[in-house]
Amino acid sequence: MGLDERALFNDKPETRIGRYQCPRCKRSADYSIRWVRRSKKDRLPPGADEGDRAKFAKLRDYLLRLDEDLTCKACGKKFEIPSQHSLMFVDQLAGLPNEEELEREITQASGESDTAAEKKPALPVRFTRKPTGWK
Ligand SMILES: [Zn+2]
Repeated sequence: MGLDERALFNDKPETRIGRYQCPRCKRSADYSIRWVRRSKKDRLPPGADEGDRAKFAKLRDYLLRLDEDLTCKACGKKFEIPSQHSLMFVDQLAGLPNEEELEREITQASGESDTAAEKKPALPVRFTRKPTGWK
């Protein structure tokens, strides 16, 4: 059995500004959103086996969104942040890798962790479509 993904990353809270539109009043505003930045550790933790080694080599830093909903600044309605914005790979913030490579990595990443499966974030729909860039 391999190590939990959490043993391979350092978590650090991070706040980012995101622009979202309220579904009721249709007004957009910037919101302060809490994320956790998962940075790959410098080295494998003790107790890592071959599978962990292979997995570790493929890991990329990513950001996981903690906040699930917002309260509209204009009308006060609470609304959900679209789930496709719940995970970002850190290298995508700078520029997107080619689509094929990205999909291959996602397939590998999602097929590996049996024990941590329920803790893993769902992969956003946007990763299966052509990337259009970040807002
Ligand atoms: Zn509103």
